[in-house]
Amino acid sequence: PVSRLRRFGPTVFAEMSALAQRTGAVNLGQGFPDADGPATLLDDAVAAIRSGHNQYPPGVGVPALLDAVAEHQRRFYGLDLDPGSQVLVTAGATEAVAAGVLALCEAGDEVVVLEPAYDSYPAVIALAGAVQRSVPLLPGPDGFALDRQALRAAFSERTRLVLLNTPHNPTGTVLGADDLAAVAALAVEFDAVVVTDEVYEHLVFDGRAHTPVATLPGMAERTLTVSSAGKTFSVTGWKVGWVSGPAPLVAAVRTVKQFLTYVNAGPFQPAVASALALPDEFYTGLAADLQRRRDLLVEGLRAAGFAVAVPAGTYFAVADPRPLGFADGTDLCRRLPELAGVVGVPVSAFCDPGSAAAQACAPLVRFTFCKSDAVLHSAVERLQVLQ
Ligand code: PMP
Ligand code: GLN
Repeated sequence: PVSRLRRFGPTVFAEMSALAQRTGAVNLGQGFPDADGPATLLDDAVAAIRSGHNQYPPGVGVPALLDAVAEHQRRFYGLDLDPGSQVLVTAGATEAVAAGVLALCEAGDEVVVLEPAYDSYPAVIALAGAVQRSVPLLPGPDGFALDRQALRAAFSERTRLVLLNTPHNPTGTVLGADDLAAVAALAVEFDAVVVTDEVYEHLVFDGRAHTPVATLPGMAERTLTVSSAGKTFSVTGWKVGWVSGPAPLVAAVRTVKQFLTYVNAGPFQPAVASALALPDEFYTGLAADLQRRRDLLVEGLRAAGFAVAVPAGTYFAVADPRPLGFADGTDLCRRLPELAGVVGVPVSAFCDPGSAAAQACAPLVRFTFCKSDAVLHSAVERLQVLQ
């Protein structure tokens, strides 16, 4: 590839899933559910294919999905969006984030990013010729904490974007009201746009509520909110995402999207539109079910000797293997299939080599709990051999 991308190899998810396949290990690495989403959703997609929704959909997305996204943002967050101008359907959240960064950053513009960061962020910032300014989320006994001093220090007059992610992959952190307010205040002070990746919006636990950045005072006019059907409806392979926000910003993203993929997911879009209108019980059931599996994994990892903080959201738990005598998470992840027949992902793969976050996260391993009880039981049983 071009020099801007040369430091990016194959993604850690592909590497670890291949390792799991090769070794027959239980794959708690790549985050994808092992059960498909609601039957009505699957039936609706089949019906859409059978009834001729197989040609290019409209460039912004099918009207039913634009309406459904706007209605979802109103129903859950009280946000008021015009579906005709303030919503855009994308090829997953990945394209929404990429098109957002490419649409809004000139070469040399700075993008403030939480680190560890989802792996597509640094790559797309590099592709835009922009400069990443990282703010470490540092691990502690009760989970990860945002370094507020580093947050302020990351902003400058060159800041164009804040690329936020809450609930946060890979740490499972749900940013608290204080952190969100601090980000919002700095975005206003430095006149930055916030692109916020909220794909895990419905995967929050213990009675917490997800707070979109766009709901904070003064933020709706400078925030692009990104989400995806992949996580909420357990259909990660469909790649139906969306972005919403102020019409001029959404229009800018649309300009990029139309030349990246033009349109996507014709027959899946009406199906996702119907699913977004599922009753509250679907959403609360999803979180409750995942919370139970979170607890199963966290307890199993602790019984196996790992130190684990309970994640507040997402479907990932971060385990510290130092009590078991392992200091290097990358090395442990390479050896784990052979040692225990399990695959995880090193948290340092989400960090810039040599950064403060990379150092703090060096020992840590991310395991996913979006798997069946049987798979989770099998994994934690296998991990007992490490003691
Ligand atoms: N953002 C985050 C934080 C993610 O964890 C993921 C998926 N694992 C994505 C984006 C990608 O979403 P999609 O598949 O909809 O592109
Ligand atoms: N988002 C999922 C994860 O973090 C997988 C994404 C991918 O494979 N690119 O594991």
